[in-house]
Amino acid sequence: MAGKYERYFLKVDPPPYPFIMGPIIRRWDSRTVPGSNFYFIHWVLPHEEPRMKIGHPPHAHAEAELLIHLGTDPNNPKDLGAEVEICMGPELEKYVITETTVIFIPPNFIHGPWNPRRTTRPWIFIEINQGLRHTEKFFPQLLSREERARLDWNFWHDENMSEGYSNMPRYLGKIKDR
Ligand SMILES: [Zn+2]
Repeated sequence: MAGKYERYFLKVDPPPYPFIMGPIIRRWDSRTVPGSNFYFIHWVLPHEEPRMKIGHPPHAHAEAELLIHLGTDPNNPKDLGAEVEICMGPELEKYVITETTVIFIPPNFIHGPWNPRRTTRPWIFIEINQGLRHTEKFFPQLLSREERARLDWNFWHDENMSEGYSNMPRYLGKIKDR
């Protein structure tokens, strides 16, 4: 394929190292694709235990976010093939989803921890932030002291997710089974 609009065809472009959840399809924002909002698309491969301690801790974004959890069984597209835990609101109300689900996160709405508890069939995760750059503010004070102690706050810090892949290797270095 060649043509003057080829730049609009975004293909698989993973970072040169493995990711905690599974193969990364692509991650981009307006810095890499001018005019584009933030998108992050990856697989989640089977696991028995959560891959993250606690999960992605409570945080909010300046823009609305969509967290798309997409099951891959064509005979039962409703089934996610996984159990994903997510807490919603400052009271951290807990939900567990097992079906293909899009979670809408309004601007400035606190959400997390987000943590896939187990996965029996690979599924696809698509994160959309409806802004040209990913913004993020964490709320560690909503977690217990014990939970806070188990997380690496050098990694989970405000705006870290807008730094692209550059922050991931150290984080990934702690994963033993991949
Ligand atoms: Zn979020």
